Amino acid sequence: MLYNRFENRTVINGIIEAVDPIHIGASTKESLNPVDMDDHVLKDSNGNPIIPGSTIKGVVRSRFEAVMLSLGKNVCNIFNNNDKKCADKNTIYEINKSKISDEEKAKKLYNKSCDVCKLFGGRAIAGKLRFKDCSFIGEKCAYEKRDGVGIDRVTGAATCGFKYNFEIIPKGTCFDFTLIAENLDKQQMKYLDFIIKMLEGNSIAESDYLSVGGKTTRGLGRIKLKDIKRTTIDREELKKQMLKQLEV
Ligand SMILES: [Zn+2]
Repeated sequence: MLYNRFENRTVINGIIEAVDPIHIGASTKESLNPVDMDDHVLKDSNGNPIIPGSTIKGVVRSRFEAVMLSLGKNVCNIFNNNDKKCADKNTIYEINKSKISDEEKAKKLYNKSCDVCKLFGGRAIAGKLRFKDCSFIGEKCAYEKRDGVGIDRVTGAATCGFKYNFEIIPKGTCFDFTLIAENLDKQQMKYLDFIIKMLEGNSIAESDYLSVGGKTTRGLGRIKLKDIKRTTIDREELKKQMLKQLEV
């Protein structure tokens, strides 16, 4: 982020605690496959569990989208390339081929985008929220195993005799959490407050925690954010700090 485009930066630090056991599968394929006998959770190079920032971002975005939609706010369907509520395919094409500076293009694309894309990123713009990967807090994770029953993919019926194990991260496991938000306007600062409340499981719109990973219908996956520390630095403050660093 160049200084001339810098308005502010807010960093949210905290701890994500597993309210339920969690299963974020290491394999990309659907874990219901009965042949996949040992379904492991995603781990870092030390063998400890990790919650990808993209996973947190995904669940936060979809819950936030649902709330915005229920309030009648301008929210696009990201899977529909022609949704006029946002910078659609044609608009993006027109803006990109116009003879204006890249900065002007970026500004136009941003202004055409819906409130959710402005914050989380969309077809033509980068988002303003960056969720870092959440790393395990502690020495070694005490994984547990659960029995699963193979489900026939076509009929959805339990496949007789097919049993498999899946690994879970026990309830109470804690992870580092960092969210970096850049150049939020006043409205987006309010949205950020709301998103933090959602992560705490404490928003007025929803009484339940957000869930990550698979098998959430089996009571897995709920997480909560706690011990939150929040710092915001604005343009003036950043300038002061940069000048100080450059002092001879
Ligand atoms: Zn959008």
